[in-house]
Amino acid sequence: MNKTEAKQALMDTMEKFLALASRRLPDDVYEKLTELRDKETSPMQKVIYDAYFQNLEEAEKLKRPSCQDTGQLHYYIKAGTAFPHLDIVEESLQEATKRATMSVPLRQNTINYFEEKNTGDNTGERIPWINWDIVSGGDELEIIVYFAGGGCCLPGKAQVFKPSDGYGAIVKYVFEAVADLGINACPPLIVGVGLGQNVENAALLSKKAYLRPLGTHHPHPKGARLEKELLEGLNALGIGAQGMRGENVAMAVHIESSGRHPATLAVGVNMACYAHRRGVIRFQKDMSYEILTYRGAQL
Ligand code: SF4
Repeated sequence: MNKTEAKQALMDTMEKFLALASRRLPDDVYEKLTELRDKETSPMQKVIYDAYFQNLEEAEKLKRPSCQDTGQLHYYIKAGTAFPHLDIVEESLQEATKRATMSVPLRQNTINYFEEKNTGDNTGERIPWINWDIVSGGDELEIIVYFAGGGCCLPGKAQVFKPSDGYGAIVKYVFEAVADLGINACPPLIVGVGLGQNVENAALLSKKAYLRPLGTHHPHPKGARLEKELLEGLNALGIGAQGMRGENVAMAVHIESSGRHPATLAVGVNMACYAHRRGVIRFQKDMSYEILTYRGAQL
């Protein structure tokens, strides 16, 4: 396959994949929401979950996005160094984003900072946001697309503490972030926590944390224990779905970490909403693909 054919194939596939990911939740998230609905005892919580599921059903039936805020598109890419078409990926994703804005349709959500004008097609300065991870020797291209809505971006924050503040400062920070603005993100949330050296890597790690599949855990036993304890503690706040008092403000807490400087403890917190539109698709060298987040889905 030559470059032109590869580009065409990537654009066409991604445009259709964006339509699918805008309306359907990944299987792991759908299953978790079903589990949480069954655990809630308050009638108001049942009503909210029923509305969520009815909304998802209608979105599928009408082939329309499951939330009016289709966000800005973020692409997290894992690219093998031996994947032969790396040079057409960014351009193809830009084009697929523009086309999907019209065909799905997606809400026009990109504003130029200094002109205060909507670009009209969900592209603009560094948007769609594209983050690359290079995999040495690999020959596949894996793309995670995430629809980053305003409500779920709003509670995000990052801070650097002194080691003398102790690890307790991190826990307090996560609790305050969820308690202060978490309800803007339409709970139940997936809370991503990044632990690193400075605001930059802590924030990026917090994003990667909430993109991890549900049911996965931090590889270090203490990291995994902190995830569990944070989840139990946050849910004990009684905030519930949509902040209307219930058992679960969060589906999960995920932590990603890096080594830190001896003089810093950095934490980033990022939240994903119940409409966690995370689609994962993996391309081979011949541009054939496999959809990883939706069982049995066809484009
Ligand atoms: S937080 Fe999520 S579900 Fe709520 S309005 Fe924003 S994008 Fe939609």
